Amino acid sequence: MLHIGCHLSISKGFMHIGQEASSIGADTFQFFTRNPQGGQAKEIDPVDAQQYNAYAEEHQFAKIVAHAPYTLNPCSDKKQTREFAEMVFADDLKRMEYVPNNYYNFHPGSHVGQGAETGIAMITDLLNRILQPAQTTTVLLETMSGKGSEVGSTFEELAEIIAGVKLSDKMGVCLDTCHVFAAGYDIVNDLEGVLRRFDEIIGLKRLKAVHLNDSLMPFASHKDRHAKIGEGLIGKEALERIVKHPVFNMLPIVLETPNDLVGYAAEIKMMRNA
Ligand code: FE
Ligand code: FE
Ligand code: ZN
Repeated sequence: MLHIGCHLSISKGFMHIGQEASSIGADTFQFFTRNPQGGQAKEIDPVDAQQYNAYAEEHQFAKIVAHAPYTLNPCSDKKQTREFAEMVFADDLKRMEYVPNNYYNFHPGSHVGQGAETGIAMITDLLNRILQPAQTTTVLLETMSGKGSEVGSTFEELAEIIAGVKLSDKMGVCLDTCHVFAAGYDIVNDLEGVLRRFDEIIGLKRLKAVHLNDSLMPFASHKDRHAKIGEGLIGKEALERIVKHPVFNMLPIVLETPNDLVGYAAEIKMMRNA
């Protein structure tokens, strides 16, 4: 069975979000660990988290995906911003242990003109300082569209980050369909070729989750604008091929399309019927 869900708000706690996910036919979901612009995180209620863990097991949820705030930039040229990223990242990983064995996804960062190599070194340094042998969370690098000075829009850069991490068994990749398309990976006409390259460069065993989005912006545009399924330039058929593919079929798939709950429910149903 397909494991699919969407991005939801955690503001009312884990149990609420779990039940909300069930109500729209989802068996996974994504949430921001704190305000997407960064800042203070809401305290996790341990009882709520425990109730969710039991609920997720009972309802056979797939792994869920926590998303780091967008402002988290481990390879900023400002020391203060890098230190803030490290503080948020470490704190989020600690909090993730209330819902163990799930995923923490982050945008590798923007090197802001320092060059990809410097950026990659800063990202691996941060990961080497905060990853813990005992943590149950797998940290996911999100594939990026390559806008501005974003790191992580090529499989090579993602592989280089992982290669620099000592506790690399804690590392995986989340493939965002909109981002890889905008980055120049032709998942519409050559899905097998893209997967072959992913396997050669990163290794398919690292692929842990999918962000399922259509793209408003053209192929290789390096622009990041999500569209509803079938309303963008990737198209419904190509996205259906992805969810039905044996490589993706086992992974948690998260919609980040511009939708309300009703819209998400419809897209989840559409993909389950694909
Ligand atoms: Fe993201
Ligand atoms: Fe994404
Ligand atoms: Zn995006």
